[in-house]
Amino acid sequence: MRRSVLALILVVVGVSAAQGQGATGDDRLKAVASFSILRDWVQNVGGGRVEVTALVGPGADAHVYAPSPADAKIVAAAKLIVVNGLGFEGWIDRLVQASATKAAVIVASTGIAPRQAGTLGTFRDAAADIDPHAWQTVRNAEIYVANIRDALIRVDPPGRTVYEANAASYIQELDRLDQEVRRAVTTIAPARRKVITTHNAFGYFAADYGIAFIAQQGVSTETEASAKDVARIIRLIRAQNIPALFFENVTDPRLLRRVAAETGARIGGTLFSDALTVTGGLAPTYIDMMRHNIDEVAAALK
Ligand code: ZN
Repeated sequence: MRRSVLALILVVVGVSAAQGQGATGDDRLKAVASFSILRDWVQNVGGGRVEVTALVGPGADAHVYAPSPADAKIVAAAKLIVVNGLGFEGWIDRLVQASATKAAVIVASTGIAPRQAGTLGTFRDAAADIDPHAWQTVRNAEIYVANIRDALIRVDPPGRTVYEANAASYIQELDRLDQEVRRAVTTIAPARRKVITTHNAFGYFAADYGIAFIAQQGVSTETEASAKDVARIIRLIRAQNIPALFFENVTDPRLLRRVAAETGARIGGTLFSDALTVTGGLAPTYIDMMRHNIDEVAAALK
């Protein structure tokens, strides 16, 4: 009697496990990325085995994000949480604690060489000493992607071959992208390789690709530019003969329009730094974002 009940249980468990193998979406590994760029990478490496949600979605500013109760639920249900680190998501630790999630939390920037904030401009991003925008060079992106691959393998060992294959082909695409960016820089006269931005998010890009991004103290995603800031920027553009200025999807563009009107510097369109766009926008993926940015910079500096 006992034995037949046990056998029955095993049969029922066996059946439901087999049904769970179907592609219903319910059995995909639930991952959470802190912001849209990491989401893109987790999706590329995870493929069909992973369902990934970004806490800070397209077009939104992760520097000043305030998590919602819905975010705590998403985090609680996740098996893997992927964050940038380097002080980028000041709100993530409290969210993870409050959610009581059992998920593994991985810092995807582990292994990159961190830069001091503000070493190329005069502006320090938020209050951090470390520049968190490490994804702004393709070589670092390859490190992030390898970290994400390894984290997925740790939480889902049966997916190893899938994650390894997806990561390898994506890293090949990144290699081609890196070459493309470097070729574009060579088309710009060396003396013209400098731009001004509102948000000092391009320090890694500047160091790796040799274009100076000059930002101005007091002008950030968190503070409104004052008349004094505007006057300083105008002096800077004139003194350093800066050919172009850019604004981002996370900052107020009105400032730069005023500066351009007074200096004659070219407004180079929108550079995307901290967030992708929605599908159909100018930068729905990381590769689209980097390609868009270098195209805009090269066009404005020709
Ligand atoms: Zn930023």
